[in-house]
Amino acid sequence: MSSQALLQDAERRSLRYLDSVGDRRVFPDPASIAALADFDEPLSEAGMDASNTLALLDELGTPGTVTSNGPNYFGFVIGGSLPVADASERLTLAWDQCASSALNSPTAAKIESVAGRWILEILDLPRQSAVSFGTSASACSLACIATARRELLDKAGWDMARLGINGAPELRVVVSQTVHITLLKALRILGFGTEQIVYAPIDQHGRIDPDRLPALNDRTILCVQAGEVNTGEYDPFVPLIQKAHAAGSWVHIDGAFGLWARAGNRTRSLCEGIEQADSWTTDGHKWLNTPYDGAIAICKDGNALAQAMNSDAAYSNSSADSQKNLGLEFSRRARGIPIWAVLRTLGRNGVANMIEQHCALATRLAKGLAKAGFVIHNRVLLNQVLVSLDTDARTDALRELACASGKIWFGPSQWQGQRVFRLSVSSWRTKIEHIDQAIDLLTDIKSRLP
Ligand SMILES: *Cc1c(COP(=O)(O)O)cnc(C)c1O
Repeated sequence: MSSQALLQDAERRSLRYLDSVGDRRVFPDPASIAALADFDEPLSEAGMDASNTLALLDELGTPGTVTSNGPNYFGFVIGGSLPVADASERLTLAWDQCASSALNSPTAAKIESVAGRWILEILDLPRQSAVSFGTSASACSLACIATARRELLDKAGWDMARLGINGAPELRVVVSQTVHITLLKALRILGFGTEQIVYAPIDQHGRIDPDRLPALNDRTILCVQAGEVNTGEYDPFVPLIQKAHAAGSWVHIDGAFGLWARAGNRTRSLCEGIEQADSWTTDGHKWLNTPYDGAIAICKDGNALAQAMNSDAAYSNSSADSQKNLGLEFSRRARGIPIWAVLRTLGRNGVANMIEQHCALATRLAKGLAKAGFVIHNRVLLNQVLVSLDTDARTDALRELACASGKIWFGPSQWQGQRVFRLSVSSWRTKIEHIDQAIDLLTDIKSRLP
């Protein structure tokens, strides 16, 4: 098969898959999962036919996928992938650009710089900030906190570039009691132990209570959240950032999905005061509906990020705002391009509509489930609905039956000591009809539970 025919075959198979996402099982059936064992071949000595490899990928691989790119997936906060994001990703793959600097790819450098400017505009963050495109909110938070640490140590008179971290003045990090696990992982990798991590008490909605905020000083990094992973709630940024900055602390915002509320007209007020922070992390691959791995680190002091992340070498010298000097990777694909494509195609209004639509659908889902006798545990300000039945066992049983039906998928969680499940509306493919089908399905399963 010619290389062109191979790519056309891939395109045909991809389109067939995308055509099926509304009807296919959401979580694969046990037989399809068991069949994945056929991938356990010995490594070929002579190599095999490329078209056969593609066929195997489709025939064995496709049935084992989770249809998270479909309308009936309500797990985590995983959005689908918008057509223009997929389409621009395909062309970008053909280019195979190394998007580290303008030397490697003038096109990637230009488009990512435009995408960065648009992100600051649509999220209304300080326009002088540096924007870096990373693999994940995990990696982007790591880059931001590494920068925060360097800056705070620098202000304390400790030159980390020369002296390293051993023997440095001790820094502390204040995080919410509902901090996301990936932020704790970033802190662990950076060398913060449990002795240096202080948990800020939360109110009944899961927001940091500013009146009970642990003491802060100029050796503290305060990490707050735009979009708590269960409830979708927002920390009260205005009083928290005011206190932190009065004390000389650095404020980092984990807004992996929730920062996009700032793009919605009806949701913007949830993010009030967020622009006062020092660094922000968000994902494209969650609520913006771009493909993996597309995330964004934003740092108000662009020089600080560039110093912490610099990777210039004699053979690879670039401007301070080259992507390789703002993020963790040296070589990477141009993951800012699908983000650019979505922002350009949807525009401000299109992004706002998508965000608001998901919030409205989540409200509809919560109302429908409440009417059917489910317990709703959060205020549903955003796109997240936390649900349970009267006992933990019945809650688990309902979720397992619903997911085993193949018609829907959503994950379990724990909220205030109780088993719950979490439905999040994050895909551009999810419409009113899918919400109403979900309500009917869960209501029906509930009526048949013992
Ligand atoms: C998903 C998530 C993360 C981690 O993002 P990745 O892109 O998966 O690394 C961090 N914080 C919150 C609140 C999240 O929802």
